[in-house]
Amino acid sequence: MAVIVTKECIGCGACVSVCPFGAIAMQDGKAVIGDACTACGACVDTCPVGAIVREQEVKEVAMDKTAYKDVWVYIEVAEGKPRNVGLELLGEGRKLADAMGQKLAGVLIGENVEGLAKEAFAAGADKVYLVEGPEYKHYSTDAYTIAVTDLIAAYKPSVILLGATNDGRDLGPRVACRIGTGLTADCTGLGIDEQTGLVAWTRPAFGGNIMATILCPDHRPQMGTVRPKVFKKPEPDYGRTGELIRVASKVKPEDIRSKLVEVIKVCTTSCNLEEAEIIVSGGRGLGKPENFCLVENLADALGGAVGASRAAVDAGWKPALHQVGQTGKTVGPKIYFACGISGAIQHLAGMSSSDIVIAVNKDPDAPIFKVADYGIVGDVCEVLPILTEEFKKIKQAG
Ligand SMILES: Cc1cc2nc3c(=O)[nH]c(=O)nc-3n(C[C@H](O)[C@H](O)[C@H](O)COP(=O)(O)OP(=O)(O)OC[C@H]3O[C@@H](n4cnc5c(N)ncnc54)[C@H](O)[C@@H]3O)c2cc1C
Repeated sequence: MAVIVTKECIGCGACVSVCPFGAIAMQDGKAVIGDACTACGACVDTCPVGAIVREQEVKEVAMDKTAYKDVWVYIEVAEGKPRNVGLELLGEGRKLADAMGQKLAGVLIGENVEGLAKEAFAAGADKVYLVEGPEYKHYSTDAYTIAVTDLIAAYKPSVILLGATNDGRDLGPRVACRIGTGLTADCTGLGIDEQTGLVAWTRPAFGGNIMATILCPDHRPQMGTVRPKVFKKPEPDYGRTGELIRVASKVKPEDIRSKLVEVIKVCTTSCNLEEAEIIVSGGRGLGKPENFCLVENLADALGGAVGASRAAVDAGWKPALHQVGQTGKTVGPKIYFACGISGAIQHLAGMSSSDIVIAVNKDPDAPIFKVADYGIVGDVCEVLPILTEEFKKIKQAG
């Protein structure tokens, strides 16, 4: 979709000031759209004479939306197990499906993954679509895109939820583009729009300064990726069962254009924040990068992952994959240690669903203490080594 200026432009300049990207300039008394344009449409709505219009690049296909039903959740598999985010989304998908009076289905793709269908049923699925084969042993964009688009063409879901993981962020947009629908990426909230009955996808926009709620009125399926740990995993009910629909794979070896040569694990327990039960995070209060070892030692003693505030990441003390918060990871461990972190709203956005929060801060009025279950007022450089030693002793004794 692009935005174009028609010859009706009267050169009033109203569009120039409303463009959030500074993409419009006046030339010879007419508005000219530059490369920075994202086709957000702010100028279209503002132009007093309707001289700026959206140019439809994607060929509109008349779509019978009533043919599309059911809520699907793509269940990502890692090392023979469903990733937690798939189960979290089945829990939330169940609510959407019930509100829409539709069925909830899991999509399971992989090599020898049939045994995981029971996890999907236990998490709330009524059906599971199963596509198996050696070509799905490792994730590949080509094979998985073909599998999911074929499933959509055959069974026509109304909604598809995927985890905003590396694979989900790769697969979701590729599938959406291939079938010509929209996708709302990186959602932090889901609901049903009361007026239209459509899924209301909520996500941070404009660098996290506002929350935008997005609808997909014209195309099906409605698609979105959702961050891990935004929703709680439902308690499994292994008494539940459902319909297992086996679908033959149509992927041919020549369809897969990439070859997995080697898997190099750069991420160990310490950066697996989304799955971690204990996280120790450090912020600017650590004072200097060398002091981050105090956080790492405590995490090590507890078998936990290491997190960081954006200030610590921006200072180059830790890589971005450790960042917790609105523009970092959303986490939900059993215990979250915030060490030398003030508790800015953007940090809280990523960790407030932690079961227990323990804060260490030298300022008794730091906002983090308002959300902490336990607070230690003190210098991180003194407190953290003591905690580490004490936890080590308890571990050795136990
Ligand atoms: C759009 C947007 C998105 C953002 N996204 C994120 C995000 O995803 N994650 C995130 O974390 N932030 C994010 N931020 C930044 C956020 O607003 C804060 O600036 C940031 O969280 C502050 O990090 P901090 O708590 O480490 O540092 P500070 O706010 O500087 O706090 C340091 C704290 O350490 C304490 N302290 C100092 N010395 C010691 C000591 N020796 N011992 C104990 N305590 C000490 C101080 O009392 C203070 O409370 C975002 C901001 C914006 C505008």
